[in-house]
Amino acid sequence: MSNIKRRDFIRITGTAALAGVAAGFPSLVLGAGRQVVVVGGGVGGCTAAKYLRKLDPSIKVILVEAEPKYHSCFLSNEYVSGERTMESLTFGYDGLAKHGVTVVNDRVTAIEPDKKQVRTAGGHRFSYDACIVSPGVDFKWEAIDGYSEKVADTIPHAWYGGPQTEILRRQVRAMPDGGVVAIVAPPNPFKCPPGPYERASQIAMYCKREKPRSKIMILDYKDAFTKQDLFIQGWSRLYGYGTNYSMIEWVSAAAGGKVEAVDPKAGTLIGLVDEFKADVINIIPPQKAGQIAFQADLVDGDWCPVDKKTFESTRHADIYVLGDASDAAHMPKSAYAANSQAKVCIAAIIARLNGMTIPADPSYVNTCYSILGEDYGISVAGVYRLDEERNMIVGIEGAGGLTPMDTAPQFLAREVTYAHSWFENLIHDMMG
Ligand SMILES: Cc1cc2nc3c(=O)[nH]c(=O)nc-3n(C[C@H](O)[C@H](O)[C@H](O)COP(=O)(O)OP(=O)(O)OC[C@H]3O[C@@H](n4cnc5c(N)ncnc54)[C@H](O)[C@@H]3O)c2cc1C
Repeated sequence: MSNIKRRDFIRITGTAALAGVAAGFPSLVLGAGRQVVVVGGGVGGCTAAKYLRKLDPSIKVILVEAEPKYHSCFLSNEYVSGERTMESLTFGYDGLAKHGVTVVNDRVTAIEPDKKQVRTAGGHRFSYDACIVSPGVDFKWEAIDGYSEKVADTIPHAWYGGPQTEILRRQVRAMPDGGVVAIVAPPNPFKCPPGPYERASQIAMYCKREKPRSKIMILDYKDAFTKQDLFIQGWSRLYGYGTNYSMIEWVSAAAGGKVEAVDPKAGTLIGLVDEFKADVINIIPPQKAGQIAFQADLVDGDWCPVDKKTFESTRHADIYVLGDASDAAHMPKSAYAANSQAKVCIAAIIARLNGMTIPADPSYVNTCYSILGEDYGISVAGVYRLDEERNMIVGIEGAGGLTPMDTAPQFLAREVTYAHSWFENLIHDMMG
């Protein structure tokens, strides 16, 4: 007997679209032995696993995650500046176990669509009726000459949470007053589009207090970035941007910001036009879908193409790809987006496993906060719908919005509070 109530299904999945399913929904009789395997216990994977169990407890859910704990990237820039602890960004998987998810700490080494089986480094084999893959991003290490996974031990990317973020924080703390931090910002698309610019702001906030003669230089692959006007207004107000005393300098691609190589021994970055010397170098390399997506033949180019109504791979049936690894244009690669996509995806899987019509007209949401300084936050929010003909997620005009330019200080301070509360809510929603 199903524990799904139609009202709950609609509320949780955020889809108003069960019209085709409507009539007999609460009286579903669910078959035994259906199993969903989730690869990756980040935002997309955890949200999907938890809500699958909440909405249809008759489905067995196995989540396979390579790390014993989840280190959040979101708000990790606050850790770099000393505003929060690593403990506040680190989470175990006990909450998911409470929902009846079987959590396996192991690395998935193969997904076999023909056998409908997932294999792990530890020798497990799990068969699946549906497999959800949310492995996040991997880096194109070869894009910057001289950079590699090994070099990242001393020149961090800090684009995965945990140890990498700790290296960057240690280096910023050890830097002398008057030192230079260089941040290499990647080309689109990449995870967390405002992240490099928020990071520059957070480091500037720390330096303004502790090392006021220091500078933060952003060397960019791009000529424009998200919320640019709002960032620049914030930097002007807080860090003297645009003056001779600015703590932050942004070098666009057109101005020679694109970095081609790094010399780790000399501590220099080599651009097309200039070389840049810095005390602390943070290279955020160009990105692609997590490695397992390549192994499983789920990619076309760098990302995994999906049917955006279900997030089912267009390359292999019964495999669903969520979050950063998926090509979910025009949603950004963000935690909130992964969370929202997971709900659309599990609505489709539950419908499918129960022989129901897949919900029509899914909706998707995203909000990204960036904390530029003490009591200074900005945000962008979007609500999206499916353009089914083009298999594209498109913004709904008039829904969502952006922090207004020139807004009053109390609103900017409130955005910081909202950002912190968003963080708590999201973590709770995905694994609490
Ligand atoms: C500095 C920074 C700041 C950010 N700030 C924000 C923000 O303010 N707001 C926001 O919305 N987003 C933010 N993000 C983006 C956000 O972190 C990601 O978009 C989000 O985590 C994507 O979720 P995901 O499930 O796709 O991947 P992830 O959360 O990265 O999870 C992937 C998981 O899969 C696991 N995995 C990978 N391969 C395997 C395998 N083979 N076997 C088993 N496990 C595997 C990994 O260990 C990882 O735990 C930020 C990112 C960064 C770097």
